[in-house]
Amino acid sequence: MAILKVANMGNPVLRHEAEPVTSRDLKSLPVQQLIDDMIDTLYEYHGVGLAGPQVHECKRIILVDRSAGEDPDGGMLVLVNPVVTEASDATEEDWEGCLSIPDIRGRVPRASQIVVESKDRKGRDQTHSVSGFTARIMQHEIDHLDGVLFLDRMTDMLSLTFLPEYGRYWTDDAE
Ligand code: ZN
Repeated sequence: MAILKVANMGNPVLRHEAEPVTSRDLKSLPVQQLIDDMIDTLYEYHGVGLAGPQVHECKRIILVDRSAGEDPDGGMLVLVNPVVTEASDATEEDWEGCLSIPDIRGRVPRASQIVVESKDRKGRDQTHSVSGFTARIMQHEIDHLDGVLFLDRMTDMLSLTFLPEYGRYWTDDAE
């Protein structure tokens, strides 16, 4: 088990396009170890998703914790070389944060429903049809593979807020 160092915004690694993982690479011990370490890192920092570039690995690997979304029993998804093959025209706006942009929150519009094709960690084809918060996490993490951060997706900066102010002014409790 290893907790990996998370790259913060400003680190150029977050702005690079990540490389696809070959099936040979995916079977290798270092890549399998990387996936295990990414899972440990995500739990350590209480995130809901993580992408390779965030831990300084320019590989197209993402994690999505479905238990954070509408599927409490869903568990952790590992997606290798994920591609969005369908996205609904309908969008919804909700709050996002990012382990690479600590203590900041902002509202981001995302497609409500998407279909994503990828490999699992054993190299098997998988298709995920997801909606709501799980779809949001998946779009956020896939963006990381293309060097895109959630701030780039915000259409209105008025909701950009630090975490203490989020708790004070923007949560339902504050209203
Ligand atoms: Zn992020």
